[in-house]
Amino acid sequence: MRIIIAGVPGAGKTSIMKEVSGRMHYQVINYGTVMLELAKAGNMVKDRDEIRKLPINLQHSLQKEAAKKIGRMNDVIVDTHLTIKTLSGYFPGLPMNVLEYISPDVIVIVEAEPSEILLRRKTDVTRKRDLETIVEVEEHLEANRYAGFACSVLTGAPLMILKNHDGMLDESVKKFMGVFK
Ligand code: AMP
Ligand code: MG
Repeated sequence: MRIIIAGVPGAGKTSIMKEVSGRMHYQVINYGTVMLELAKAGNMVKDRDEIRKLPINLQHSLQKEAAKKIGRMNDVIVDTHLTIKTLSGYFPGLPMNVLEYISPDVIVIVEAEPSEILLRRKTDVTRKRDLETIVEVEEHLEANRYAGFACSVLTGAPLMILKNHDGMLDESVKKFMGVFK
């Protein structure tokens, strides 16, 4: 089985995955890391936050190569994005060709309040996040839902909306584990 976990930066995907990976034999694959390795091999970027600033044609080819790699793996949870904010607008993380390679069984969108998301981004010093307002985060959450349901309808994979509010990590992990039932 291949499970997609997606959500805006700061929604808490990685935190949920840390908890889940201790309880499961499933491997967690970060799509951005696979793209980063490919991009570094081609001398295109120095860090993961530069990928979304690359020309769109390069993002497309990195995205496709990563999809081919990930599509060959089994029993994986793929930590990725439904939409990525690029200089050209919302870039789909799971367009048709990627969905064909990955063929997900379940899609999970992690969400939180925009205020919670902004605060989490502020305290994460490991990343070069773009500064955003509450309204911009609201729009991104909405865009992800549209993209998520489009992927769900195209593939037949059910879509879970996982609310990951502050202090609710245990509940989020418990709900996520439902995908294995
Ligand atoms: P992350 O660490 O999850 O924020 O991923 C780092 C970067 O990888 C993102 O900012 C995107 O530029 C890129 N990325 C991750 N998943 C995808 C995807 N499915 N399609 C295109 N780009 C992606
Ligand atoms: Mg992450």
